[in-house]
Formats: sequence, C-alpha cells, structure tokens
Amino acid sequence: MTVHIRPDLDSIPAYVPGRNHPGAVKLASNETTFGPLPAAAKAIAEAAELANRYPDNQASELRAALAEFLGVSVANVAVGCGSVALCQELVQITCDTPTDEVLFAWRSFEAYPIVTQVGNATSVTVPLTPELAYDLDALAAAVTERTKLIFVCNPNNPTGTAVGRAELERFLDKIPARVLVVLDEAYHEYLRLAPEDRPDGVELGRTRPNVIVLRTFSKAYGLAGLRAGYAVGDPAVITALMKVHIPFSVNRVAQAAAIASLEARHELLDRTETLVIERDRIRDALRAVGYQVPPSEANFLWLPLGARSVEYGEASAEAGVLLRPYSTDGVRVTIGDPHENEAFLRFATDPAVVAKFV
Ligand code: PMP
Repeated sequence: MTVHIRPDLDSIPAYVPGRNHPGAVKLASNETTFGPLPAAAKAIAEAAELANRYPDNQASELRAALAEFLGVSVANVAVGCGSVALCQELVQITCDTPTDEVLFAWRSFEAYPIVTQVGNATSVTVPLTPELAYDLDALAAAVTERTKLIFVCNPNNPTGTAVGRAELERFLDKIPARVLVVLDEAYHEYLRLAPEDRPDGVELGRTRPNVIVLRTFSKAYGLAGLRAGYAVGDPAVITALMKVHIPFSVNRVAQAAAIASLEARHELLDRTETLVIERDRIRDALRAVGYQVPPSEANFLWLPLGARSVEYGEASAEAGVLLRPYSTDGVRVTIGDPHENEAFLRFATDPAVVAKFV
C-alpha cells in the first residue's frame, strides 16, 4: 500500500533544475545581472541577524511602504512569496470546483496552467494574435459562466508583446463583475509605450473591484533569489488572499530587502534605461540578419523558431549561452550585460547558425 497522491499531478512536470554549465552566459531566466545595492545588502545582513525570530506575517512595514509608493491604502496591498505564489493563491480564492475555469492566452507564463491544476481548476486558453500578443477580444469571447479568473500577462512572457491602455480598458469593460481579472505586470518597469498608451495596472486594481495587479521585486528590483511579489486590488480580494497565504512565506530577509530596494528605486529603475537600449539594439541586430523578433516591452526577446526551437537552444548552450527554448514555439532570450548580449549575438549571427535556423 502506498500513500495516496492526487493522480492528476502526474501530468505536471517535476521541477527540473536549470542546467549547470560552469562559465556559461545565462540568459534563460529573465534575471537582473546586478547583485543587490549596498543598502539592500546591508538590510539583508541585518535581517539575517534576526533569523531566529519569525517574520511579520502581515508584512506591515513592507505593505505600508508599497501603499505609500503606489498611492493606495494598505488594505489594497498583499504580498506573496514571489508573484508566482500570488498567482496560485488567486486560483485558490476564486475556484472552488474542478470545472471552474481559469482563462489565459497561450503561449504565456508557464506557471498559469500549473497553478490552475494545483488549485484543482481547469485551464482554458485562447491563441495569441498573429503578432504574438494577447488577443483580448478572443479572451473576452471565451468567458463562460464557469470562468472564475483571467490572467492577462502584460507584457507577455515569453513573447514580450504588450497591450495598450485603451485596448485593456475596453476589454475590462466587457468582463462580468463576478470574474476576477489578474493583470500580471511582472515586467512593468521595462514598458516604454507612450505615456498615454501605457496601462497603469495599479490604478485599474485600485478602482475596479474585479481587477488585481501583480508586480514583483524579482525583475527590475533584482531580488529574484529572495522571493517577494505584491498584489494591488480591492480590499475584499486582498483579505481573501491573506487567508490562503502560507504563513510566514515572505521571510524576514525578503521583507527587509524589498523595503530597502523600494527606497533605492530611482537607482534601480535607472538601470532599466540601459537594459531597454540593449534590448532594442539586440533586436535590430537580429532583424538585420533575418530573424523575426516581435517588439518587446520586457527584459527579453522572443525568437519564434517553431519546430527548431529546442535544437537552437541546444546549439546556443554548446556555444556557451543558455537560452530558454519553449518546445515547438520559440526561444526566449533574456537581455543581460552588454558582454553577455554580445556572446549571444556572436552565436545568433554566425552565418552557419543563420543559414540553419533563420
Ligand atoms: N509573472 C510573470 C509573467 C513572470 O514571468 C514571472 C517570473 N518568471 C512571475 C510572474 C513570477 O515572478 P516572481 O515569483 O519571481 O515574483
């Protein structure tokens, strides 16, 4: 007799740690290349001294700092062990039977189908547009009476495309008030749409009771290894999130580092300017040799290489550059430091590689 484990979990792939290629350039996980700022490193060291004490389960200081920064009330803010934990908690608070539907476009963030299944609900997907962007009309048309949650990944991981403000607001107007819409803005800080086109998820989350926005300290704030993300939305949704939250899962070090990084945000956000310049430079260089690369509003580029994606990822790894291939759809390339991007470009623009894959 063996322990009963939910048989449906067999279809979820076991966690596969990233390949360890010593010395390889890693452009596979959309991380920031810089280590923590001195102020964050100091806060981390100080918090570590108190590791014998439980963290503040309400994350009161961090939530207050976020509320002030975002111009909302503390009751509008929840924090999570990375925004991915909040994705899962959002399924938990909205879906109560296995036939409940979680809707999103595909391809999008790979955690959506996993957290949906873990939350015992059903994933429903609509294809991206031919331009590889979220198809908001198709998404609105796919809402049924079973739909409980919709993820809108903006900019979309892994294609980098973004939907603009007017389009997003038109979509939200069509969604029934009983359905919660999650605006996943993990890459918000890299958006460079014109200000009038740039959606402000925080404003939408604050003013529309069925909208919640997710942001993270993992990308532009450079704290991926510590795990802190946040949600902004209606107090009723925030209260529910805090009920399903795994107690103490945003640890003391993460809370302290997030507060220090928020205080140092100008320095961190300045760095996104350099990244955006690199992003556009790499895209131009790739297009110049014939790659199709959708315009990106995030810290990565997408190469829609179809059936040859995995082979491309293997060839780049052999050349010392780790990318993220997605089965038969494409390959995602994180923008790193200029010398790392150059290493990628040397591979990508090698005439033999271009002849084979482009
Ligand atoms: N949303 C999207 C779209 C992401 O790409 C990621 C990270 N890859 C996350 C959420 C989760 O980020 P974290 O849990 O590190 O905050």
